[in-house]
Amino acid sequence: MQIGFIGLGNMGGPMAANLARAGHSVAGFDLTAPMPEGVTRAATAAEAVAGADVVLTMLPNGAILRSVAAEVIPAMQTGAVLCDCSTVDVDSARAVADQAQAAGLNALDAPVSGGIGGASAGTLTFMVGGTDAAFATVAPLFEIMGQKAVHCGAAGAGQAAKICNNMILGVTMIATCEAFALADKLGLDRQKMFDVVSTSSGYSWTMNAYCPAPGVGPASPADNGYKPGFASELMLKDLNLSQQAAASADADTPMGQLAAELYRRFVEDEDGRGMDFSAMLPRFSARNRA
Ligand code: NAD
Repeated sequence: MQIGFIGLGNMGGPMAANLARAGHSVAGFDLTAPMPEGVTRAATAAEAVAGADVVLTMLPNGAILRSVAAEVIPAMQTGAVLCDCSTVDVDSARAVADQAQAAGLNALDAPVSGGIGGASAGTLTFMVGGTDAAFATVAPLFEIMGQKAVHCGAAGAGQAAKICNNMILGVTMIATCEAFALADKLGLDRQKMFDVVSTSSGYSWTMNAYCPAPGVGPASPADNGYKPGFASELMLKDLNLSQQAAASADADTPMGQLAAELYRRFVEDEDGRGMDFSAMLPRFSARNRA
């Protein structure tokens, strides 16, 4: 396939490299990032998408996606698919899909989980919103870049799935960390706490697979000085998107709202920036009941 790839940063770079390595012809554009191996440099975003069957974008946020989409949509060939893999707000995803459709294109929102490691290894999970036909066109590319692609529904459904999942993740991480901090103060050994909770009704991915207590459970960022992993500021971004969506859909999400506020404080006021999102455990450990 002829592919245009816009946004070749930490995630987009290795994703584009994997597509080129698999034999696809990839033209890339980024404002600053270097071209990954096998990707042809285009001078502009419009040049990168000319003649492409599929255009992939991996950009920082919805505002940038909207501006890139406004530039590339008129330059794309009729029937091509614009597939955005960034994590953005649901409203931007839907607006870009509408614009693409009005221009005779197909569109998908396909945010990912799996992080930079998954992007390099080609083991991302894609959560996809858009039409069946567009999904079928891009599915072989999802297979190269990832291990799983779930077609979640119409435009915006991929972003909706992503932020709902990550709202659960943020809330659950906080619950796991505050419970460990309470257990500490009750004199309960952390390993015993793990042994019980990981096999009881309090179990979760954050406890069982990504335990925030160093030396307990499988290896996780806690065992590496809380180096990310999944950085707290990325969790804050996703929690803020969940709250933006909740406001827009008039949904009551008190736990998500509190999680967003706690990560905001952690990142902006408490040295959490650059720390893994499980570093909430030392944060709670260092505090008393206010
Ligand atoms: P990044 O900042 O490393 O990459 C973004 C790239 O977009 C940069 O290279 C930047 O130069 C480029 N860019 C910005 N504006 C542009 C424009 N107008 N034209 C062309 N290029 C432009 O970020 P990342 O970590 O690769 O994340 C990308 C997206 O993936 C984000 O939406 C993020 O939320 C999401 N995501 C990241 C992770 C992660 O672990 N890093 C995990 C899942 C999802």
